[in-house]
Amino acid sequence: MAKYIPTIGLEIHAELKTKTKMFCPSLNDPEEKKPNVNVCPICMGHPGTLPVPNIEAIKKIIQAGLALNCKIAEFSKFDRKNYFYPDLPKGYQISQYDKPFCEEGHLETYEGKKIRITRIHLEEDAGRLIHPKDVDYSLVDFNRAGVPLMELVTEPEMHTAEEAQSFAEELQLILRYLGVSDANMDKGQMRVELNISLAPAGSKKLGTKVEVKNLNSFNIVGRAAAYETKRQSELLDNGEKVIQETRGWDENGQKTFSQRLKEEAHDYRYFPEPDIPPIVINNKQSAINTEKLRSLIPELPQQKRKRFIEEYGIDTNLAEIFVKDMDIANYYEEVVSELLSWEKAQGHEEEKKDIRQKLLTLAANYLTTDLRGLMSGDAMPISELKISPENFAEFVDLIHIGKLSSRGAKDLLPQMLKTGGDPHQLMLDKGLGQVSEAGELEVAADRVIAANPEAVTKYKSGNENILQFLVGQMMKETKGAANPQVAAEILRKKIVS
Ligand code: MN
Repeated sequence: MAKYIPTIGLEIHAELKTKTKMFCPSLNDPEEKKPNVNVCPICMGHPGTLPVPNIEAIKKIIQAGLALNCKIAEFSKFDRKNYFYPDLPKGYQISQYDKPFCEEGHLETYEGKKIRITRIHLEEDAGRLIHPKDVDYSLVDFNRAGVPLMELVTEPEMHTAEEAQSFAEELQLILRYLGVSDANMDKGQMRVELNISLAPAGSKKLGTKVEVKNLNSFNIVGRAAAYETKRQSELLDNGEKVIQETRGWDENGQKTFSQRLKEEAHDYRYFPEPDIPPIVINNKQSAINTEKLRSLIPELPQQKRKRFIEEYGIDTNLAEIFVKDMDIANYYEEVVSELLSWEKAQGHEEEKKDIRQKLLTLAANYLTTDLRGLMSGDAMPISELKISPENFAEFVDLIHIGKLSSRGAKDLLPQMLKTGGDPHQLMLDKGLGQVSEAGELEVAADRVIAANPEAVTKYKSGNENILQFLVGQMMKETKGAANPQVAAEILRKKIVS
């Protein structure tokens, strides 16, 4: 058993996807490359300006809170958090202190662990500092200053790096499903900080907490937690004390490093934002109604996981690819509905269930491996995909009924991707079809038998293995188009009779 048990809590910031900023009409456009264009006197903190809360941002954070099983405050307010930083033009950040919009929720990770969420509040983002190389100054871009930002804090109750990573991954999915945030970590739209303390195994008291910032991938969240567990264990083993501090992640050195001693809440002199009245929710005058917002929550990742496994009968790994890639999942569902609508027309009534299962699994496999591979190779977004769901369904059906071999399918798919053409027609044009028709194969078999009398004699005298050689000759004769099972059967019949 481990000597020390780590206890991990997370603090996660995510930029909300809104048209405008949190307190002003400046655009919230994360794709804007030109610095300092989406700015106005309000987000620049000019004297005499007044902030007006963005109701879309408030609705979005409440939806996030509902999806994460939080209690929604009927009365909420904004507060000022005072500190100086060059990317913070006002000298304070409008945030929430004692009355956040959402409290006491939980998230269930993919592995089924329930992690409690302490609170989710709404605040504004700061600008971005840019440090050009080989010069003695820094630049500042205020496009991001004032962008709506949600901050989520968990209870410190995760005990492994994997749990922390899994929480962050599931949260990202939920935010994306809700359309609340794009939550791309590499673009800084979702930023994870962790706090971690170590206590001797069996002890009820938590150890001294260290925070680690700037973790910009899930993998780094895991690595930073693992590194801190090791570092703090070694300190404790040597009889040294863990210092309460904020540390950063050094990707080159694969380690954390001390940034500053931890500040306390009172250092920020929080006080109620005097320019924004408190927000009241759910009363007659309020523009915000939680039940209405709840009714707009779409299917969430956990529900989709269950549905894809139950409805389409695919395994958990395949389902997870669809859960993580919403575009491919939507496409799959269109292909499925095509396949199911043909089922009746083709009169597969008896073995319906079995065939249905085979088709859906086949479609899922070709989509998630072959098609997805080709598309990512070309960096092609789904919006540019020329293959209609109907054509993809037909492609799957051709494989299923044996007209197209897996080899032929591999050659046909890139053609479909390029031209968007009809799979059956393309298969015929390019000669990729598999020949199962007896007539054509019998002609080829006669030729192979005539050309290989020795092999035929050997087979007649009991050498079963030689049949494989003859099948190989059939493949050559038909330029690879023969269905090997059918070819073997025809050869056997002809030689024996
Ligand atoms: Mn914050």
